[in-house]
Amino acid sequence: MLADLSFDEIKDYVKRMGLPTFRGEQIFDAIYSGKTLDEISNLPQALKDIIKDDYPSYKLLKKFESKDGTKKYIVEFADKNIVECVLMKYKYGYTICISTQVGCRMGCKFCASTLHGLARNLSAGEMLGQIFLVNRDLGGSRKNRQITNVVLMGSGEPLDNFDNVVKFIELISSNRGLGISQRNISLSTCGLVPQIYKLLEKDFNISLTISLHATTDEKRREIMPIANRYKIDEIIKACKDYYNKTGRRVYFEYTLIKDVNDGEDDVKRLAKLLKGYNFHVNIIPLNVVKERNLKATTRLAAYKFADELKALGISATVRRTMGEDIEGACGQLRNKILSSQD
Ligand code: SAH
Repeated sequence: MLADLSFDEIKDYVKRMGLPTFRGEQIFDAIYSGKTLDEISNLPQALKDIIKDDYPSYKLLKKFESKDGTKKYIVEFADKNIVECVLMKYKYGYTICISTQVGCRMGCKFCASTLHGLARNLSAGEMLGQIFLVNRDLGGSRKNRQITNVVLMGSGEPLDNFDNVVKFIELISSNRGLGISQRNISLSTCGLVPQIYKLLEKDFNISLTISLHATTDEKRREIMPIANRYKIDEIIKACKDYYNKTGRRVYFEYTLIKDVNDGEDDVKRLAKLLKGYNFHVNIIPLNVVKERNLKATTRLAAYKFADELKALGISATVRRTMGEDIEGACGQLRNKILSSQD
């Protein structure tokens, strides 16, 4: 699929067809502007016929708009698999939260994306496609980019789809493409320690976010199966190494689940784990997933949790929940094709 290729690779593609370079530029521009093949006006039909099987056929299937302005888009790929992505408007511009896999195999107990396991990985071009289509929906194009920030926090575990995610980061931040600065890209992981080190070797300038959600390994194992593989101490060590090498602040997501991880002891242990480094904690009151029997800590209690953390010297904020009424908030994205009851 052509969206998986870089600018130079697309130029090679047209060269091998015996066509001039500018055809490659036209195709590249059209892909990055989110156009369908039919919508391209400057390519001869004969050429369109030749490239039609390689040209991206992903499309926006549906759009939901939340009362708070957040939008959720359903994107369908060539094989009819679908994913969701979410667009949030902030003062500085638009942030898009994209999916990296159809479903997820991490099995976190509080998250809807993993309810039916992993269907498949997304290719780099399928991750890009979510951005191209939404950028287009906002009236943007390659040259007139509306989206400023990208977070890899939709369905899927990005580090479980390592090579495609790396390629995606290279392509999206390339100046010939949309040119989104790596500083404005954030990757969220449940903590695959060896892959964090592999990521470090790539010398990217992206932000790293860790989904921590517990302060003891025992508790973490209850809600996140990945905790059977990696200990909290190993994750924190990897984050310290990440910070030491990149100089970039590491973020921690801590979803408060009533009577599970929101106690006084948790505040103290969390502060002890994170103290002394340029780390920041995002506290998120659990977004309820109807299949799961977990309850949210109240917002008031979340503010108290954050205040206590701050009093212990840890930078923390309670995340504003966006798009909850359209099931677009953290952990609410799901693969609807697999769950036919939806
Ligand atoms: N697999 C990656 C990215 C996807 S999840 C990861 O684990 O980080 C994005 C964030 O939403 C993670 O921090 C995840 O733990 C959190 N999340 C999942 N389900 C949630 C829920 N029901 N309520 C609040 N946050 C949730």
